[in-house]
Amino acid sequence: MENPAQKLPLQIEGEVLAPASDGYDEARAVWNAMIDRRPALIARCRNSRDVASTLAYARQYDYPVSIRGGGHNVAGHAVCDDGIMIDLGNMRGVSVDPAARTARVAGGATWADVDAASQAHGLATPGGLISDTGVAGLTLSGGIGWLRSRHGLCIDNMLSVEIVTADGEIRRASEAENVDLFWAVRGGGGNFGVITEFEFRLHPLGPEVMFCAPIYALECGAEPIRAWRDFLADKSDRIGSLVEFSTVGESEDFPPESWGKQVYTIAAVYAGDAEEGERVMQPLRELAPMVTDFSGRMAYCELQKLFDELMPAGQFRCYWKSHYLSGLSDQAIDDILAGVETVPSPSTLSSIWNFGGATAQVPADATAFGDRSMPWMYSIDSVWEGAQNDAANIGWTRDFWGRMQRYSHNGRMYLNFPGQGEEGDKLLQDTFGDNYGRLREIKAKYDPDNRFRFNQNIRPLDH
Ligand SMILES: Cc1cc2nc3c(=O)[nH]c(=O)nc-3n(C[C@H](O)[C@H](O)[C@H](O)COP(=O)(O)OP(=O)(O)OC[C@H]3O[C@@H](n4cnc5c(N)ncnc54)[C@H](O)[C@@H]3O)c2cc1C
Repeated sequence: MENPAQKLPLQIEGEVLAPASDGYDEARAVWNAMIDRRPALIARCRNSRDVASTLAYARQYDYPVSIRGGGHNVAGHAVCDDGIMIDLGNMRGVSVDPAARTARVAGGATWADVDAASQAHGLATPGGLISDTGVAGLTLSGGIGWLRSRHGLCIDNMLSVEIVTADGEIRRASEAENVDLFWAVRGGGGNFGVITEFEFRLHPLGPEVMFCAPIYALECGAEPIRAWRDFLADKSDRIGSLVEFSTVGESEDFPPESWGKQVYTIAAVYAGDAEEGERVMQPLRELAPMVTDFSGRMAYCELQKLFDELMPAGQFRCYWKSHYLSGLSDQAIDDILAGVETVPSPSTLSSIWNFGGATAQVPADATAFGDRSMPWMYSIDSVWEGAQNDAANIGWTRDFWGRMQRYSHNGRMYLNFPGQGEEGDKLLQDTFGDNYGRLREIKAKYDPDNRFRFNQNIRPLDH
């Protein structure tokens, strides 16, 4: 290993920023305003060769490496102190093959990039709910979006990747090539290398889809939520849905008498014909008197941007945590309502998500993600302003999350909503289950020095 005191500069086709460079502070900022880390270098790569050169340099001088896709990771894993941050924000190209129904997506693309390119051909692949979230971070830990009911998680639509591993090798991984690596990146996060290109399967969809979004006052209580749960019992193969709890702001979109009040939205998307969806989901709009109703048929690309304004980048301090739930009993719904009532910040959201359908069809050992039998998830997305409010909001989230633990599906959590990952190795053991040992072996094969450790870290076997 070279002497770090006599380092040569990192040379790539893209730009390299050091702490004294113009633009350094903008480049290290991520979606969560709480995150304030200072990498030794930021490599704004243009292509896979740049990524390979940066990884060779990191190995030569023994730098740890963080990877920035869309910068949305709430725990701030995209950016590290004193290591090298590989920033893929300039690698966002998407090319669609309409005949083969596939898309090639560069490692720094956002869902807006993918949706626009695929919808130009009447096609779509499952993505997230906010259009400027990175494809890479969201997909690599599973990827949960509206189309999960019919087409599964994002990883279930991944056909291959180009990945640069810690040794600087540019490899392809698929069901036919580097099969172990392909299995690991479908759920194992950014532990195994830098994905410079994804290939996804696309499905015919839209351009119009039906979005159902009646808004009910929290005072309506548990009955509409129970009715929603029962309604979905035989429809989770077509409807991706969530009940989202929020507080109404002073917005013209809401009647003034609802401003400042707590509500829940029964949001649902029918993955199929819009007219049929409107008819099938109508009962969800008749569960109680509504505060308002945002339901309607709309272009899929419009739907995918609908919630963007609620979640602006860099403005709020955030701490998000989740449980997969083993059931949604009446008591669990009552406990959620009781917890929601005590929320300290009006910007905080929390959501009950349905699973089942295509998501549940995939065997636990087919991808690193693991068991698919959880029927529900509850995520608490705490969002607030002012560092002085950090302790109150994080404390509230942890307490509430702790009270919901008794409904947990074997201690498992969605690894894109893991708080700050404070449960450490136990969380990974519980969440990956029987897949964890194999993940540690594959990590030892491709990243024995744990160069990629700013993530839900899978320790190499024998570490
Ligand atoms: C507003 C908002 C909405 C969200 N909505 C959803 C949703 O609907 N569904 C859902 O499933 N999740 C959702 N999430 C969670 C989201 O999936 C994670 O935060 C995810 O990490 C974001 O990916 P990113 O590329 O933007 O993140 P980044 O912060 O850029 O990266 C996070 C981590 O992903 C890995 N990574 C990123 N790029 C690469 C790459 N090219 N190669 C290898 N590893 C890489 C690295 O480990 C990195 O540390 C949301 C998050 C936010 C903030």
